[in-house]
Amino acid sequence: MYDVWYLGFWDASDVSDSDNTSQVLDDLAKDCSWAQNADNEIVFGWADDLDHNGMAYSNGFYAVGSENPTHPFDWPEKSVVQHEISHNFNAPDHGYFGPYCIMTYFYAYLGVDKWCSDCWNTVFGNIWGLWE
Ligand SMILES: [Zn+2]
Ligand SMILES: [Zn+2]
Repeated sequence: MYDVWYLGFWDASDVSDSDNTSQVLDDLAKDCSWAQNADNEIVFGWADDLDHNGMAYSNGFYAVGSENPTHPFDWPEKSVVQHEISHNFNAPDHGYFGPYCIMTYFYAYLGVDKWCSDCWNTVFGNIWGLWE
């Protein structure tokens, strides 16, 4: 369904605040822009310890996930990927509690892999748009 690049190696050691998710995301975008050449290519980077489960550019091409976030609510890794890539396709966060949707933190934590109808329309509307 997605065209995802799993990078084997990316050096985030130049990030000054090494668990700052947003700095690590910026570093990925800077270091790996060579890998992003088309509208249907997304760069997803995994890091060890971050202060969030993940982060992504909304309506963009870069996302990061954390193997071991520094807070206790560690989401399943497949949920991190689906949630963050949904942001790349412009789906919003619903906050901690909200509709039965992977964009609601509580359900992402539980491993729910469904989108609410709004997010489904947003994500798939953008995916179909890429191949029009
Ligand atoms: Zn989010
Ligand atoms: Zn939703």
